[in-house]
Amino acid sequence: FAATQAPMANGHLPNGTHGRRIDSSTERIQIVNDEKQFTPDLGAQIGRWGLRDAGFGYNIVAVFGSQSTGKSTLLNRLFGTTFDVMDETRRQQTTKGIWMCRGKEMNVMVMDVEGTDGRERGEDQDFERKSALFSLASSEILIVNLWEHQVGLYQGANMGLLKTVFEVNLGLFGRQAQNGISTISTHSRTLLLFVIRDHIGQTPLANLQATLTADLNRIWESLSKPTELRDRQLSDYFDLAFTALPHKILSADKFESEVLNLRTRFVDKTSEGYLFKPAYHKRIPADGVAFYMEGIWEQVQTNKDLDLPTQQELLAQFRCDEISAVALSEFHEQAKSQKRPVESGRVVEGLGALMRNWRTDALTRYDRDASRYHQGVYGRKRTDLITALDATLSPLFLGQLKNLHKSCLVTFKKTMLDGLRGETYSFADVVSKARDECEQTFSEGAKEALVDDTEWSWEDELESLKEEVQAVADQCRKDETKKMINLIERNFKKHISEPVELHLNKATVEMWDGVLRTFKVTLDKAESTYSIKAKSFNCTDEENTSSLAALRKRAWLALRAKIDEQTADPVILGKLRGHFEERFRYDEQGVPRVWKPTDDIDGAFKKAKDETLELVPLYSKISPVDSALEYSLPSEATDSINTEDFDFPSTLVVFSETKTMELTNKFRRDADAYYVEAKRSTVSSVAQ
Ligand code: GDP
Ligand code: MG
Repeated sequence: FAATQAPMANGHLPNGTHGRRIDSSTERIQIVNDEKQFTPDLGAQIGRWGLRDAGFGYNIVAVFGSQSTGKSTLLNRLFGTTFDVMDETRRQQTTKGIWMCRGKEMNVMVMDVEGTDGRERGEDQDFERKSALFSLASSEILIVNLWEHQVGLYQGANMGLLKTVFEVNLGLFGRQAQNGISTISTHSRTLLLFVIRDHIGQTPLANLQATLTADLNRIWESLSKPTELRDRQLSDYFDLAFTALPHKILSADKFESEVLNLRTRFVDKTSEGYLFKPAYHKRIPADGVAFYMEGIWEQVQTNKDLDLPTQQELLAQFRCDEISAVALSEFHEQAKSQKRPVESGRVVEGLGALMRNWRTDALTRYDRDASRYHQGVYGRKRTDLITALDATLSPLFLGQLKNLHKSCLVTFKKTMLDGLRGETYSFADVVSKARDECEQTFSEGAKEALVDDTEWSWEDELESLKEEVQAVADQCRKDETKKMINLIERNFKKHISEPVELHLNKATVEMWDGVLRTFKVTLDKAESTYSIKAKSFNCTDEENTSSLAALRKRAWLALRAKIDEQTADPVILGKLRGHFEERFRYDEQGVPRVWKPTDDIDGAFKKAKDETLELVPLYSKISPVDSALEYSLPSEATDSINTEDFDFPSTLVVFSETKTMELTNKFRRDADAYYVEAKRSTVSSVAQ
């Protein structure tokens, strides 16, 4: 049947050759073809069988024996597999190689090793050896199939086959057991199940069993073992089991029922004589079986020493890398979703929870599949995975911190501005409330973003935030202080305006005393206003000193501005004119004079003019009569305000000498005009 199938390009026969099947669980695959090539499709096939995720929850069994001893027939009946059976009518030989099927409704991979018995056909013992190695390295149970009449033929083909199996086994598991890497009682133990076919029943099974056991031990003894393994017994490596099946054709019914009995021992875990004992399992996770088998076959094929620990480590490296890569790529997919938001400066709500979930998911996924492999490799690759995970998460964490920092600072500024609105706030309270809020928001956000088992920290970022908050608070305080001083200055100006005007309009000797007294009283008030308000600003003494100095200087300049305004040319000339007119054009009773020719116009004119001219020097310098007022500016203030562009003594001068001359002349001209007018009025009154 199989021979009629056209081999595929790679020499492997196609799957599902019994026509198209929807149910891929019955598909079979030739894992090693007759050119001794290993199939590249086993991994995919195990997937299609649905065994990939079985972990250790599967079994492998292989059959050995001479050609045409009913091996395939037996397997199909025991496991519901679909191996080719020799066509009775044509007696065609089936294809050589190793075939594999999944047991029907059971997690069992069944290997039908075809043409193992090269001896019988006088050919290829090489394949026999290789397939024995291969089967032992992976199978839990080796079914050795033989006719009843082959039992006791010590020199027969089967015995040669078994000798090969034993030798190969020593090479595989002998050293391993000794090195303690794996103990005999666990990983390297294999069950040899002898199935004696066409058992007629004349010789009881017990006798056949005894004969076979004796033969096996003799073979074992005859093996040339390395000295360190000299004392090893056959039973150190193998369990032996024996069963016999009636003649398939002569006692067809009994054959079928015995096969069913045997089947139970493979299927029913609770049955007496259950065959798949955990000790036989080779502990290759199902998802690694394909890679492992291929590696084994490659080693076997190149006649290299088959070093199972190395194979298992290679397998572990390969699979752990694969598993890690899958976990990592799913993880990256998840992490990508938040990369842009974080990079764009957003504070991602619950980022820490997300990151912790992704990380845990990835590790759980990795652990689920990879923890079944070589522990050292599994552990190393896990560390690598964690490093890779954290390398992706760390920039997100740092980005989140940075964004949090920024947003907290923005909120801080806003809270400050809001708090400083209105009249009745305490600056210190506004700052400390905003600062507490800011630090708390940051700390909470930063803690949320932390991922366990990392060395990440956010304290440095908090420190730098604190510094910036302090800088903002300082700036705010400076601005507020400035605003406050501006306000005080405005009020000051308002308060001195009228009194100063009044004093300067009353040109008396004590005029400046009045001005300076007003200045002093108003400045004192301003200073105490400052001191009261400044308390909540937590200003330093230095800041207070310089603020007060600035306040004094600006107050003084405000006064000077007021004085300048009141002594500007038109204003001062108006004042002089007024003064003059009062004396020249009005009499002592304030009645306007009507000049008569007899009046001493010249004398009155001269008197009024001289008296008025005396005012010019009075206005030209701020000089109080009361010398106590001369120093109305505290010395430390005058010190600090005597800067390059501000020389206090010179600000006392209102009119320079030239200015005084100029004003005097201007006034003289005005006065002369009055004089002429007065003279004219007498002439006209005479003329009338
Ligand atoms: P394999 O080459 O060992 O796989 O043998 P097959 O399963 O292909 O069987 C070879 C031939 O032996 C077929 O014609 C089967 O019908 C026949 N056969 C299978 N089982 C038995 C058995 O238990 N007794 C006898 N006498 N013939 C069998
Ligand atoms: Mg067969």
